[in-house]
Amino acid sequence: MSNIAAIVEEFNKSEPFKAKLPVTLKNGFTLTMMSGRCAECKAPLDDNLMRGSIVLFPEQERPNVVCANGYGYCEDCEVLTEYVGRVRAGGKDTYLEVFRAKGWVRFRLVHEKRWKRLRKKILDFLQG
Ligand SMILES: [Zn+2]
Repeated sequence: MSNIAAIVEEFNKSEPFKAKLPVTLKNGFTLTMMSGRCAECKAPLDDNLMRGSIVLFPEQERPNVVCANGYGYCEDCEVLTEYVGRVRAGGKDTYLEVFRAKGWVRFRLVHEKRWKRLRKKILDFLQG
């Protein structure tokens, strides 16, 4: 079997990432989804079509790190995009780390409570 055929077969057998979520990290951050974009058209991928393995480190109720490894399928382009990402609790903050051509790229995620406060501030500001 070719490498590509093996990847497609693996993808078809895999569960969506979202089937293994939500996961609450050690710092209280609840991860509800893994999102990604098509490598071809850059459109957000349907989370039913983002599939692969989710591994918790350590393997316990409130892990420090959630690793997602798999592929996302774009129906428009008929292309599979490899997805290697992890979400890490670093003290109070939480980071999304995504593997790109030049290595790991890190983004800070906003906690839902903090996001709600921030969103309220932005709306208050916009509405004068
Ligand atoms: Zn696409």
